[in-house]
Amino acid sequence: MGEKFDEKVVNTARLVRESMSDKDFELYLYSLKKLAMKNAEENIQYMTKLYNLRAFQMKAQEEMLENSDLKFALIVLDFANFNTLNEFCGRDAGDGLLVCVADALREQQKARKHTVISHFRADVFGLMTAFEDKDELVGIVQQIDARISEYKVAYKVLPAFGICIADSPTMSVSIMRDYATLAISTIKGKFYAKYAFFDEKMRRQMLINKMVENDIIKALEEKQLMPYIQPKVNMENGKIVGGEALVRWHHPEKGLVMPNDFVPILEKNGLIIDVDICVWQQIFRFMGERLAQGKPVVPVSINISRQHVFDRAFKDCLIDFSREYDVPSELIVLELTESGFLEENEKMYEHLDYLKAHGFTLSMDDFGTGYSTMTMLKNQPMDEIKIDRGFIVDLKNPKSQSILSHTISMLQDLDMDIIVEGVENCEQREYLLQQGCNKAQGFLYYKAMPVNEFATLLDRQ
Ligand code: C2E
Ligand code: MG
Ligand code: MG
Repeated sequence: MGEKFDEKVVNTARLVRESMSDKDFELYLYSLKKLAMKNAEENIQYMTKLYNLRAFQMKAQEEMLENSDLKFALIVLDFANFNTLNEFCGRDAGDGLLVCVADALREQQKARKHTVISHFRADVFGLMTAFEDKDELVGIVQQIDARISEYKVAYKVLPAFGICIADSPTMSVSIMRDYATLAISTIKGKFYAKYAFFDEKMRRQMLINKMVENDIIKALEEKQLMPYIQPKVNMENGKIVGGEALVRWHHPEKGLVMPNDFVPILEKNGLIIDVDICVWQQIFRFMGERLAQGKPVVPVSINISRQHVFDRAFKDCLIDFSREYDVPSELIVLELTESGFLEENEKMYEHLDYLKAHGFTLSMDDFGTGYSTMTMLKNQPMDEIKIDRGFIVDLKNPKSQSILSHTISMLQDLDMDIIVEGVENCEQREYLLQQGCNKAQGFLYYKAMPVNEFATLLDRQ
């Protein structure tokens, strides 16, 4: 490829030489030299002298296309803790490590045919190579890893390798890089896992992520997101004593999408705030309309993502809705997860005290799944505790029974309102009633349903 290009340059130069005066030709040569330097600067990483990402994508794609009878794989290398190494041992140590990686990659390139290597950026490298057997790829990873461990610094560096095998010679290198990077994200920072292959499960997750990221704004604009409500029940008499708003996405092509498929993604990009507000507003409107028509209502919970801790406006938003739709705050329960208290807990307590003072009921969701449950019980202003479904899934086990019964009696001592999530069968119900716990939310009674169905249930009751 390089030779063909050089030949072309020489021929053009010869033609140009014949058509120019000596002085013009000198100037022409000078500008060519400048251009070549600029190109080299643009395509080569200064420190490691390896191709940068842009040049790599071109060369690697060419290599794949020119050898379409071979199988290719891209290995991406990233460090979990490169910044800490820089802070801990100084920038020189960090730079030295990058040069060491570059040398290790050059060794691979020398030893293997059809191999293109690159320093993508910062602490991220890539190696595209032809291979026959997956074990060969693992071998490459191990050799590079061994070279990295020979680099002596007073800090344990953690390289992570993601591997994507091309499904065809025309597969885009840039997509292969996305896939290999996704594979890395499944192992980054884990001492025991050095490498991960991009697989079918990750591909599906990636497609969901892309779908969510691409479609969520439109979904908000076109009101595709709506709350369903799952009734909360008094197990002694089966009466509905409340409900929980759970968001559902009516996607025009994918159909009904469940929150576990999109809420975690939106918690990362911050858009959960907009989704929550959209759900809250629909619930306030629903409650306000029923109250205005003199129809019976029960308190309804809304979920508050921990992202709101960082958003000062969220308290006012709830208070404004309560005024706008004329719904007493006593009828709205705010469900927060324990993990919401882990970061920025001072700020969180401040928000909660304020909301409590304005009449809202506070409920701790998924109790028992977080980290510092006990400390929180002492400090936070919660009214209700929702015991997580995990506590009741295996009640046949005497240890589970003991944990549950002691948890319930401790919460009763603390004068907390208790509700148990995920009640699915009569044994669970009987056991909970024996323990003096009579509020539940679970499939034994109802699944989450459209708001109008919930309204019909309330009308009948
Ligand atoms: P969560 O708040 O703990 O909600 C309870 C989840 O458990 C719901 O799943 C509900 O359908 C499910 N569930 C209830 N009873 C049973 C049962 O008997 N068996 C089983 N297997 N499951 C049961 P869903 O609706 O899929 O919601 C999942 C999670 O998504 C919620 O957990 C909550 O963390 C989040 N989420 C849902 N809606 C919203 C929302 O509007 N905003 C925010 N920030 N998060 C939401
Ligand atoms: Mg909840
Ligand atoms: Mg829950």
